[in-house]
Amino acid sequence: MTEHASPVTKTSYGAGLRRPADDADVIVVGAGPAGSTTAYYLAQAGLDVLMLEKSTFPREKVCGDGLTPRGVRALVAMGISVSEQDGWVRNKGLRVIGAGKRLELPWPELSTYPGYGLVRPRTDLDQMLARRAQQAGARLLEGVTVTGPVFDERSGRLTGVAAKEADGERTYRARVIVAADGNSSRLSVAMGLRKRDDRPLGVAVRTYYQSPRHDDDYLESWLDLWDGDRLLPGYGWIFGMGDGTSNVGLGLLNTSAAFGNTDYHALLRKWLAGMPAEWGFTEENRTQPIRGAALPMGFNRTPHYYRGLLLAGDAGGMVNPFNGEGIAYAMESGEILARTIAQALARARRTETERVLAGYPRALREAYGGYYSVGRVFVKAIGRPELMRFATKHAMSRPALMRFALKLLANLTDPGGDASDRLVNGLSKLAPNPE
Ligand SMILES: Cc1cc2nc3c(=O)[nH]c(=O)nc-3n(C[C@H](O)[C@H](O)[C@H](O)COP(=O)(O)OP(=O)(O)OC[C@H]3O[C@@H](n4cnc5c(N)ncnc54)[C@H](O)[C@@H]3O)c2cc1C
Repeated sequence: MTEHASPVTKTSYGAGLRRPADDADVIVVGAGPAGSTTAYYLAQAGLDVLMLEKSTFPREKVCGDGLTPRGVRALVAMGISVSEQDGWVRNKGLRVIGAGKRLELPWPELSTYPGYGLVRPRTDLDQMLARRAQQAGARLLEGVTVTGPVFDERSGRLTGVAAKEADGERTYRARVIVAADGNSSRLSVAMGLRKRDDRPLGVAVRTYYQSPRHDDDYLESWLDLWDGDRLLPGYGWIFGMGDGTSNVGLGLLNTSAAFGNTDYHALLRKWLAGMPAEWGFTEENRTQPIRGAALPMGFNRTPHYYRGLLLAGDAGGMVNPFNGEGIAYAMESGEILARTIAQALARARRTETERVLAGYPRALREAYGGYYSVGRVFVKAIGRPELMRFATKHAMSRPALMRFALKLLANLTDPGGDASDRLVNGLSKLAPNPE
C-alpha cells in the first residue's frame, strides 16, 4: 500500500494503509448529534474525518429539545460550555403529572452525572456540535446528500458513498463509513439494514407556543392525556425554552393499539384544549407548524456493523425506550464508535482492523443491551392502557417509588451507588442481551 499524499491527509496513524483514492480515513454521513460527536472524537484521535450533511446549518430538527443530565454529561465531555450565560436553560428535574396528581422529582444526586438538565433548540444545539467537530479538525461539507453505498466489487465491502450536491454527483471514498443519518437512514436501508418489527418505535409531534410557562425550571411530563373525561392514548411533554416559548408535544408507542390509526395533530389539539387558558397553548400563540417524526428505540436497527458500515444514534435505533431520549444516546454511541474506529485503523493488517470493527456491536450491547431489554418489556406493558392506568395510579401516590422510577426511566445511576442504583444496574445486568 502506498501512502496517500493528498493535501487532505492528516497525521493519522493507520494512514499508511490509506488507499490512494480515499478522500478521508472515515466518512461520517449526517451531522446530527451522532455524526458530529463521532467526528469530534475521531478528529481528536488524529484521524482525517469527512462529514457529509444534506442540509445547511442552522437547520431545524423535530425534537422536544430537552436534555437530561445524561445529555449534559455528553456535552461537557466534548468541552462545550453549558453555562446559562451561553444561552442554556437549566432544569432541576422532572415534573410528572398523572392520575390527578403532580410530583416534582429532582434529578438524582450522582457522581457520574450532573444534577441538572438543559433545554436548547436543536437549530442551535446541532450547529454547535458540528462546529465543535470542525474545531477538533473534522471537515464538514454541507448541502451534500448521500444517495447510496459504493462497494469494492471483489470483497463486497463498502468503500465509499455516492452523493448529490449543488454542482452534480460524485463519489466519496474512505476505509470506514459511519451512518449517522438519523431515523430513516437511507444508507443503512440501501445496505439492506431495515428497521426491526420486534423492536419499539415511537411517533411524536411537537410545536411551540408563546407561553408564560417558558421559564419553567422543571421538564414536565404528562402520563395520561384527557379529552374531557375520555382518556387519550399517549404521553405528553411541556418544556420551557426560556425564550418566551414552550416546546409542547406528545407521542405514542407502537405497542399501543392506537399507534397506526391516530391523527396526532388532532390529538395534540384535544389535549391542549383541556389546559388552563392562562398557559396560552392556543392557535394564536403557536409560533411554529406542528411537526412529527419517529423515534427508533431499543436497538431498532441491527447489526450495528455490516460490511464496512457502522451505525450511530437514530440510524442504529438507539433512543431510550423508557423515556424517548435520543440525543444523549446518539452522542454516547458516537463516542464508543469513534474509539472503536481509532483502534481499528491503527492495526497493521486488514483482518485485524475488521476484527476490531466487529467488536462495536458488542461494545454497544455492553453499554445498553440489558437496559434496553428491560425497556422493551416496559414498552410492551405500558402499551396496555389498563396496566398503564393501574401503574400510574399506584406509583403517583408513592414519591419514593417515583424517585426510583426516575432513575430507571432516565438511566441515571452510579456504578455501585445506593440500593436503588444497584437494583436498576442489577436488572440491566440480569436481562437477556440479544443482538
Ligand atoms: C418529536 C420528537 C421529540 C423528541 N424529543 C427529544 C428530547 O426532548 N430529547 C432527546 O434527547 N431526544 C428527543 N428526541 C429524539 C432525538 O431527536 C433523536 O434521537 C436525535 O436527534 C438522534 O440524533 P442523530 O444524530 O442520530 O440523528 P438526527 O438528529 O436525525 O441527525 C441526522 C442527520 O443526518 C442528516 N442526513 C439524513 N440523511 C442524509 C443523507 N442522505 N445525506 C447526508 N445527510 C443526511 C440529517 O440532515 C441530519 O442532520 C425526539 C424525537 C422526536 C421525533
